[in-house]
Amino acid sequence: MQEYIIQNIRNLNTAKLMEYLQYRGEKQAKLFALAEQIRNTSSFGKKVELRSVIEISNICNQKCRYCGMGKNNDILYSLSKNEIIERIKILANVGRRTILIQSGENTTQRFIDDISTCCSEALNLYPDIKIILCLGNLKKEQYQQLRNSGAQRYILKFETGNPKLHKYCRPNDTIKNRLECIQNLIDTGFQVGTGNIIGLPNQTLDDIVDDLILTTKFKLSMVSATKFIPNANSEFKNNKIGDINLTLNFNAILRILHPECLIPSTSSLELENKNGQMTGLMIGCNTITVHDGTPANLKANYHIYSDNRFTPAEQHCRNIIAKAGLVAEKYLI
Ligand code: SAH
Repeated sequence: MQEYIIQNIRNLNTAKLMEYLQYRGEKQAKLFALAEQIRNTSSFGKKVELRSVIEISNICNQKCRYCGMGKNNDILYSLSKNEIIERIKILANVGRRTILIQSGENTTQRFIDDISTCCSEALNLYPDIKIILCLGNLKKEQYQQLRNSGAQRYILKFETGNPKLHKYCRPNDTIKNRLECIQNLIDTGFQVGTGNIIGLPNQTLDDIVDDLILTTKFKLSMVSATKFIPNANSEFKNNKIGDINLTLNFNAILRILHPECLIPSTSSLELENKNGQMTGLMIGCNTITVHDGTPANLKANYHIYSDNRFTPAEQHCRNIIAKAGLVAEKYLI
């Protein structure tokens, strides 16, 4: 039975993928157990990467309708080079070795130069750290510059693979361009992560099956799905929150499709579902992000997900990792 499910998933049998996404109750528990077992027997075993995020700027070229960043008279901010290095030092001094640098999309060359300088300085100070960038769509030469500065990984989610829905949710971009950026990142030599959002307005189950298939078209090191959260600062503020079961099933199927990828158990799972993030760890996820990198006084201006977003501190993350029977590591790849 287990082999049959694994085969159907890896053969990208769309009818079966559709069926598995809708599993609930006992069948869902079996799907989860299978995903957990595949994670545990992957090269990662029971290890979980514990990383920190620094949200360095909320200035953004895009106007994604699900995102509240830089909208409604927000105070715009951008950390200076020195401030970024200071934040990295604080994180490194508490032992963190994987640092996610995230921001709105800002293609100005000055911004990219500054981040490149920060990456090379940080890696000079701490040669054993891993830097993950999540900065949106940039020119291929800018990706190359960032890669040359030593940053090892980049996350660029396609968000939804449906071209029409993509345009609706991300009016300043196209799916074609977003996918080209993902491929450029891979060609540049980054370890790349991508994925989608589950529960976007008008998104169908067919779209979600297609998204699963789309993740297999790239050579990925990381893959992720967040549950859609109606952000009060965004145009989708009145839309329905994403379905937790669908998101969990999607993540479990991702694990079966990508045994050797890092998959985060995101804070989006926790909103409205106590223990959602721990559940993520028990269905095959193996990455947790600590929200201790962004200066406290700026956090309120960085509106992704939700303003009452759950931003777990280190101890909470360590507790749920231990409760799930797993072991926190500085990095896994
Ligand atoms: N500007 C960067 C970073 C975006 S924020 C970029 O374009 O890549 C990081 C991720 O958060 C996004 O890729 C998206 O998948 C997720 N996200 C943003 N708003 C969300 C929401 N309201 N609900 C669920 N996920 C969301």
